[in-house]
Amino acid sequence: MTAIIRNHNVGHIAEHKQASRLIVAIDGPAGVGKSTVARLLASRLGYLYLDTGALYRAVAWAVTASGRDPADAEAVTALLPALSLQMQFHHGTATVLVNGKDVTGDLRTPEVSSAASVVSAIQAVRTWLLPIQQQIGQDGAVVAEGRDMGTNVFPAADVKFFLEADPTVRAQRRHRELVAAGHSGALEETTADLAGRDTRDRSRSIAPLVPAENARFIDTSILSVAEVVDQMMGVIAARL
Ligand code: C5P
Repeated sequence: MTAIIRNHNVGHIAEHKQASRLIVAIDGPAGVGKSTVARLLASRLGYLYLDTGALYRAVAWAVTASGRDPADAEAVTALLPALSLQMQFHHGTATVLVNGKDVTGDLRTPEVSSAASVVSAIQAVRTWLLPIQQQIGQDGAVVAEGRDMGTNVFPAADVKFFLEADPTVRAQRRHRELVAAGHSGALEETTADLAGRDTRDRSRSIAPLVPAENARFIDTSILSVAEVVDQMMGVIAARL
């Protein structure tokens, strides 16, 4: 059972932008800056920011909290019918509830990151999460970010981006985030973890991380966040 509460507070946003209600799809590997730029773009457009990784992380959290092995597809699949996932949107932030418990603050630990990457390769998990993501985006005015936004979840998205960056740069960025969030651990650990997730995300048989045919590529390695957002806004503005 799943409930999604879309409390879309748009307040000051210009009418022509709201009238457009585009679906903007952003895909790319971990540490490429997707969440940061998606959040900023959504805020500039007055759109909803949909972090689909948080949904996979929520499933991973539920799997590990129940003592199941994330790699045990049968055990993970058996958990899904009884799983209740809620994503509540309010003033640009999302709260994730698993079976009524707010787990938002627990979703970005290295353990959950790794388990999310493992459970996301299970077909039943992807099938279960597909309508949830599509339901959140169904009214448009959304910036959706993940691994298969432009290819599977929103194949008819109005604008599609694929972000890439050098693996070393991505590992450094992710490491800084973890340190800022109070996690310990060496850069080498983050680098190895990221490499493992990259391999799993890109080589899995179900919904692998590949650019949609009509996606715009942006290499964020040597660009600032503001430069990436400006480039993207340039593309989106032409569609508003
Ligand atoms: O983006 P984030 O790092 O939060 O995603 C967590 C994991 O969920 C990723 O490593 C990836 O394996 C998976 N994921 C996915 N499809 C998405 C979003 C995330 O497979 N659309």
